[in-house]
Amino acid sequence: MIKLEAAELAARIKTEVKAEIDGGLSACLAAVRVGDDPASAVYVRNKIKACEEVGIRSEHHALPESTTETELLELVNSLNTRDDVDGILVQLPLPRAINETAIIEAIDPAKDVDGFHPINAGKLAMGRPVFVPCTPAGIMELLDDRGVEISGVNACVVGRSQIVGRPMAQLLLQRDATVTICHSRTRDLVAVTSTADLLVVAVGRAGFIGRAHIKPGAIVIDVGMNRISDPDEVRMLFGSEAEQRLDVVAKRGATLVGDVNPSDGAAVAGMLTPVPGGVGLLTVAMLMKNTIKAARLRRQ
Ligand code: NDP
Repeated sequence: MIKLEAAELAARIKTEVKAEIDGGLSACLAAVRVGDDPASAVYVRNKIKACEEVGIRSEHHALPESTTETELLELVNSLNTRDDVDGILVQLPLPRAINETAIIEAIDPAKDVDGFHPINAGKLAMGRPVFVPCTPAGIMELLDDRGVEISGVNACVVGRSQIVGRPMAQLLLQRDATVTICHSRTRDLVAVTSTADLLVVAVGRAGFIGRAHIKPGAIVIDVGMNRISDPDEVRMLFGSEAEQRLDVVAKRGATLVGDVNPSDGAAVAGMLTPVPGGVGLLTVAMLMKNTIKAARLRRQ
């Protein structure tokens, strides 16, 4: 089994972005976070850090949990009108009291570097993408970088979220794969996934995809990022790597596991993205790429 490590590609994408900034393009990303969700705080911090690495200016608007929808809309509108801001990122999830759809729809599509606005989702569905959600866009870069053939293959995407599953399926379709989308109502998941040459999994359940789900030799892209800390679960999922992961749990309180059972994936898949070290690294790199694209398009 070939591990589809993404660190080198993510670094290369960031180097390309930096070269464009060093060449004279200026870009600014405004990141907005509401509330105290610790995972969101880590994600935003990583995005700001990546901006610093590549030379994109960034602003971090950290608002309290008590922020109202009106207040957030006002901030988004002010960022929309500011000429010095090229990209706007509102970290999800938002507190329950705020309507996420209303906020996403308020972002200027020309600054929608996450690619979640209906205009950008619609353009992608029509095969005319402008801003593509970062995680599926990163997966396409990885597949292309490794020379994986996409045209004509049986591809299966498990998960139909707006941020991963749906745009992933659209991108694969655009590249002439035969695409099946599975979700929680799919009757016989194993029957569908086990015929896929290319399997992308974005479900959010630790080790959910097992041996029977994977066609021998298939290329498997594991989007899931699940934190686990139960030692028995760690041993069950990681087999020979369990001791190493138990050390991580001892040090950090939890370890990350994808939606694919790592031992099963290693035994059956032809290629598999590791967690961590796979898809997650590309998401941030693609955000940098989308931000300079926004800057470029806005200056044209
Ligand atoms: P969502 O919760 O929005 O979507 C999960 C999808 O999985 C839904 O479409 C759901 O179906 C489907 N699903 C749930 N249970 C089953 C089941 N038993 N069989 C088949 N399908 C099922 O999650 P996201 O797409 O936002 O994220 C998925 C995972 O990817 C998470 O672990 C998340 O942390 C990770 N992630 C990682 C990123 C990265 O950068 N690496 C970026 C974004 C996400 P239904 O629609 O019917 O409910």
